[in-house]
This record gives sequence, C-alpha cells and structure tokens, in this order.
Amino acid sequence: MNIKVLDTTLRDGEQTPGVSLTPLEKLRIATKLDEIGMDYIEAGSAITSEGERDSIKEITRQNFNAEILSFSRPLTIDIDYCIDCDVDGVNLVVPTSDLHISDKLKTTREELIKLSNDAIDYCKDHGLIVELSAEDASRSDIDFLKSVFASAIEHDVNRLCVCDTVGILTPDTSFELFNSLNDIPIPISVHCHNDFGLAVANTLSALKGGASEIHTTINGIGERAGNTSFEECVVSIDRLLPEFSTNIKINEIYDISKLVARSTGVYIQPNKAIVGENAFAHESGIHSDGIIKNSATYEPITPELVGRKRKFIIGKHMGTHGLDNRLKELGLNVNNNQLKQICDDIKELADKGKTVTDVDLQVIADNVLEINHEDRIKLDEVTIVSGNKVMPTASVKITIDGEEILNAGVGLGPVDAAINAIKSLDIFNDVDLIEYHVDAITGGTDAFIDVIIKLQKGDRVVSARGTEPDIINASVKAYIAGVNRLLMD
Ligand code: MN
Repeated sequence: MNIKVLDTTLRDGEQTPGVSLTPLEKLRIATKLDEIGMDYIEAGSAITSEGERDSIKEITRQNFNAEILSFSRPLTIDIDYCIDCDVDGVNLVVPTSDLHISDKLKTTREELIKLSNDAIDYCKDHGLIVELSAEDASRSDIDFLKSVFASAIEHDVNRLCVCDTVGILTPDTSFELFNSLNDIPIPISVHCHNDFGLAVANTLSALKGGASEIHTTINGIGERAGNTSFEECVVSIDRLLPEFSTNIKINEIYDISKLVARSTGVYIQPNKAIVGENAFAHESGIHSDGIIKNSATYEPITPELVGRKRKFIIGKHMGTHGLDNRLKELGLNVNNNQLKQICDDIKELADKGKTVTDVDLQVIADNVLEINHEDRIKLDEVTIVSGNKVMPTASVKITIDGEEILNAGVGLGPVDAAINAIKSLDIFNDVDLIEYHVDAITGGTDAFIDVIIKLQKGDRVVSARGTEPDIINASVKAYIAGVNRLLMD
C-alpha cells in the first residue's frame, strides 16, 4: 500500500523553541521537499503574520507537484488568510478532547461539531482541499471522535487526521485507535509527538492499524520533544515494512536533513538514526574488521541508500585492520611493525581522553614512517585587538611556500577576526570551515583550550586540533594544520 507523507517542518517544526525561518529559508526547504517527492507540504500558518503569509505565497507561486497547505483554526478569519495565500488546501485543526473543548475553547461538544462543519463548508465553498485534524484525538472519547469524523464526511471533508498531540500513545494503543476507525471510507492520517520517544513507533503502528498518511518533520524537530522524524519513519517503511511504500526519494534524505539543520540551527544528535554523525561510523576493531569483509555484518542498510558515506573513526577501540584501511585512504602503505607502532601511539593519545583527528593520525604516521612533510603554510605572528568598544580586529603574518605575507581582518569576535584575516588569502579560497568545537580541558579560566575543527575542500574533509592556553592561538593553529593537511597530495 502506498503511504502519503505530509511534511510539517515549516509549521509544527518551526514551532520548535527558538526556531524562526526567513521566507528564503522556507522556500529553499519547500523546494527540496518537493524535489524528494513529498506528497503534501504544510507551508505554515497563514494567520500568524505578514511575513509568514509572504513565505506561503512565495511557495504557492512555484507550482510544485506537492499539494501546499496552511494550518488553520475553524475560523473564517484564519481561512480567509489561507485563501489569500492561494494554498491548495488547509490543515483544519479542531480539538476533540473534553479537556481542550471545555478548558481551552470554553465550549461544548455540540458547538464544536457545528464549528467544525461550518469551517469545512466555508473551505469547500472556496475550493480548498480540507484535511480535518482532530487535535488531542488520543485523549478524546472515541465515540465523540467518531461522530466528529462522521459529520465531517457528510460535509465532504477530503481527509481526516488523528493527532497524538501530547505523545501519550504506545505502539499497542496506537494500533487499537486506528484499527477502531477502520470503517471510515476516506484517508486517515497519523500525527504523532515524541514526548516519550515513541513517535516513530506509534506512527508505524498506526499504519498497521489502517492509517494511509503520515505527518512528519525533517529531523523530528517540533514543539517540546518534537514530531515524528521523517527520515526514521520513511526509511523504516521502506526497509522494515514490506507491505507499505512511499513516494520519497530515499537517497536524498541526508541532503534535506542537513539543509534543515543548517537553516534552523537545530543540530542533530550524533547517535540519531539514519542522519546522525555516527549512524554509519565505526570505531571498534571487531566491527570495522567485519564491515570491511562484508558491510552487512554491522550495518542494517548501506549509507549510500540514504545518500551518505561510511566512516571509520580512529580511536582506542580501533583495530589494525580498520587503521590499515584508513592509512591506505591517506595514501600510506605500512608494514606490520609500522602498523602496530601507529596503532599503539594512537591508543596512547586516546587513553589521555583525546579525540584523535586526521592531522593527529598524519603526524603519528609521519613520525613512525620517518616522513618529513614540509608544511606549506606557517604561522609567524597573530595580533588581536578586542574589547567592548572596538570591532575585533586581527593582523597575521604567515609564510606561504616561503613567502612572507601580512594580512588583517575583522570579525564578530577575536577568533572570527583571526580566521578571517587568514582565510581571505587566495590559497584558502575553496576551503570551508564546516565544524568548530571548543573544550576547556580543565575547569578554570587558565584552562588549556582544545579546539577541534573540520575543514572541507571539494569532497575532502579533514579534522584538526589546536591545544593552547589561548583560544585564538588554538583556533588558528587548528585551522592552519587542517589546511596544510588539505594541501598535501
Ligand atoms: Mn503537532
């Protein structure tokens, strides 16, 4: 059975505390959602603000394949704004639990049904597709919920949605709830929240119970603990539930996950399924060895399936087989004794609690193999002017291929200024800083600062570190070490 997917990243997802997207960011995300085969896109809530309406209008203007919806309360003022935005349809949200009806809306069940039906009529009169979402449905009296739905069907509603607004279903109760609605003749959708970490499981159970549409957000962002995670849900349907399918292009999932993380500033936990940094990373010797022989030993799906690449992490759990593989990637061929020596040196560094970066590995390997790499870039001096009344400014003296160069830069803070002073030089042109991470190794203000960065040039990514009492020196050192590594053949 083909399952339809409604993305609510731009509505429920944007309700994540602290998240607010610009119209351009919303358009970029919507464009990507359409490209990967999303069936329905809830582009926002038209009543919210002028800016929100501009975003929705910009999206409806694109003539995407996806159906574009706006959130709406069952009020003509909301619906009029939706019409003004030229959306295809509305996600008409009507609370059905007595708690919401009496305490939030201060009304009665009878009034609520009338409100809902009148709103459906008004939408249909204006040519809108209507998906009626029963808010807090999982805490509603089931007979009342059924009567709201039956009445909506008489008013020609197009689709229905059951919302687990506070995430209290379990896989069993989710199945039972949807199974009890099985005789409804129009599509029913499931909208779950992740308050107990069960949103994906409950969504999948709802499909078994008879739902034919799912509501998700990219990376599972949303209010409180978030919504059903799109990537986990869609890949689970594809790989674990052979009786169901979706229209989503799974190999583009990672791209959209990164786009949404960057635009919202809500970064993904490393151990998150499918899209987390570690989802296809292996450090343990036994696992790496197995993966190299046959990736199915320790990977349920290949990283390529979702548009990713496998990574072997260098660290103390690593075995010689994985290390040898990694060294070969760096173009280094070693004999057994050298391999063992490099492995021991890495474990010694890792035992001190350090993350082992690519540059650390390179330096260790160079020492063991007695290779002398001449760094192309050397830092001679860095001077910073900073304070509460001046724009942070940095001047640097560096030597590139033997030629001494002076340069200056400004930035939001002293580290930013120092990096800007360096990276405005031609040789750094196509190097992107993709991660910057700072740790204070000891507790006090005199602590050693450990900076770990990731740099990208083309499709090569390297990590590098700088450890110094001074955060600026540590950052600059890490940056230059990383670029030297990227410039190596
Ligand atoms: Mn919601």
